[in-house]
Amino acid sequence: MKLETLVKPSVRTQPSYEPGKPIEDVARELGLDPATIIKLASNENPWGPSPKALAAAKAALDHSELYPDGGCFVLRQKLAAVHGLGADQFVIGNGSNEIIELLGHVFLGPEDEVVFGGPAFVVYKLVTLLFGAKVVEVPLQHWRHDLAGMARAITPRTKLVFVASPNNPTGTANDAAEMTAWARALPEHVIAVFDEAYAEYLAPGTAMDLRPLIAEGRKVIGLRTFSKIYGLASLRVGYGYAGVELVALLNRVRQPFNVNAIAQAAATAALDDREFAEKCARENRSGLVQIEAGLRELGLEWVPSVANFMLVKVGDGARVFGALQARGVIVRPVKIYGLPDWIRVTVGTPEQNARLLAELKVALASR
Ligand SMILES: *Cc1c(COP(=O)(O)O)cnc(C)c1O
Repeated sequence: MKLETLVKPSVRTQPSYEPGKPIEDVARELGLDPATIIKLASNENPWGPSPKALAAAKAALDHSELYPDGGCFVLRQKLAAVHGLGADQFVIGNGSNEIIELLGHVFLGPEDEVVFGGPAFVVYKLVTLLFGAKVVEVPLQHWRHDLAGMARAITPRTKLVFVASPNNPTGTANDAAEMTAWARALPEHVIAVFDEAYAEYLAPGTAMDLRPLIAEGRKVIGLRTFSKIYGLASLRVGYGYAGVELVALLNRVRQPFNVNAIAQAAATAALDDREFAEKCARENRSGLVQIEAGLRELGLEWVPSVANFMLVKVGDGARVFGALQARGVIVRPVKIYGLPDWIRVTVGTPEQNARLLAELKVALASR
């Protein structure tokens, strides 16, 4: 009997996630020196982690023989202080992607529907399909989530609705007050998931505050990550925050030691280095301005971004992606998001942004 015939139907048809290409892969494939390659493909922090986070990670390595604290006590205490919530209102994940999967474990089966934007972060679709639930994709309007359209797409079978703000791959945010009013008007049987992976990049005072909704007992959860502004993508740590009942349910389905001790230590220390995170947010805003100026000079169209990446219209996205890669600049083709004419570029350091713009000019000329 073929192994494939024993596989669950949802797994048999499961699409795979295509990550940004690692520098080492590109170096090997093209015979380039890895040191000359820059990766602006996965919205990672070009400034790396905070030195304090790095020191904490190194110190934690010394006790690698011990299991980590499965309850992430110290990190949750720190998060509670940062957000002004209870420590029992946080669930820590192996990246915030794991929290998305935990939501699937708790809530999704073949009878259920999940509403999200199109295009939005691809993991919402992957997790929905993995649990055999139905994908209900609502096209963005003017590159933003169509909140009214998403509300109309809700049926009695809808369990989860995802809103990423800023959204990936668009870099656009919805208005905070509109999202709050929208969440208050959702039917009782729907859980609203606000993916805030890039919230720290927003201009001060423009991010949504989920805490009033949580305090009102609404079925909402916020997702955050240490992979982006905190520069800890390789350590895999993110979190969800919500009411205690929802957090307890997510904790029920996670593995006991899902977050390693090095990640916990680094994440806790990263939260102590506010100055570093604020510096990265400031650098990112000037990087966006730098890239926009360069794109204007090249006569290219882009989607104005409030995140640490940007969609750029280049004509044939796959070709330009390939041409840039051959010149040692890795960006992201976004055909899988239904945007074959575009690429997504991460904001780098000023030097990396200049290199991107220079190579983009060459790539566009070489056809
Ligand atoms: C990068 C990203 C995440 C974070 O994923 P991790 O698993 O925490 O690395 C979550 N949501 C969106 C929209 C993202 O772009």
